[in-house]
Amino acid sequence: MLKLEDSYIHKGKRRVLIETLRKKGITDERVLAAMNTLPRHFFFDSALTSHAYEDKAFPIGEGQTISQPYTVAFQTSLLNVQTGDKVLEIGTGSGYQGGILHLMGAKVYSIEYNAKLYEHTKKFLPKLGIRFKHFHGDGSLGLEAHAPYDKILVTAGAPVVPKALLHQLQIGGLLVIPVGNRDNQQMLRLTKKTEKNILQESFDSFSFVPLLGNEGWNASQ
Ligand code: SAM
Repeated sequence: MLKLEDSYIHKGKRRVLIETLRKKGITDERVLAAMNTLPRHFFFDSALTSHAYEDKAFPIGEGQTISQPYTVAFQTSLLNVQTGDKVLEIGTGSGYQGGILHLMGAKVYSIEYNAKLYEHTKKFLPKLGIRFKHFHGDGSLGLEAHAPYDKILVTAGAPVVPKALLHQLQIGGLLVIPVGNRDNQQMLRLTKKTEKNILQESFDSFSFVPLLGNEGWNASQ
């Protein structure tokens, strides 16, 4: 069973990881502070906790991963999270990224496609005092029932920018999404200036697990 203990060794490793992220170019102090606060090892299977402060993605079961810390820091920085922002996360996974958004004062809505991961995270996060709104479903279609959102963050690699996500974004809102083929995606940030005027910025390339579902990849592709 997972023991929720945050020892001085964990804290020390976390500080080293934060310094690594700084050296890799992450400058948003609010993002770094949230990542220094939230114990990443709590989100790991007990057999893997010794790896929790490496700057790497790791398996969380069901063929899925907890994103690399650098990726979490990069995406969260692009999202420019402000206290009170209503943020939709697509791909809850372990719940770590959602936890970072929560610690930064966002009102988090998070949707997960995989039923087992969804059930696990829904039970687990309240034990850490992290409460956000969890949904099970196809996030490639967004989450219409609670739209609009100030920010939308996609944590799986998409073949295209799903139209529903732009539609569910507030005017002035931001969508951060990796788009490309199954192996490699370009990080995009789209700003909804008006209903029809969307500013698109392109950043580094990353390698995410695929976004599945209607506007994503088929599981067999
Ligand atoms: N944000 C997660 C975390 O902090 O652990 C990491 C996400 S993992 C890289 C990508 C997640 O997206 C997986 O849990 C996967 O099941 C989920 N996913 C894939 N397609 C999805 C979809 N259409 N809707 C919602 N979640 C999806």
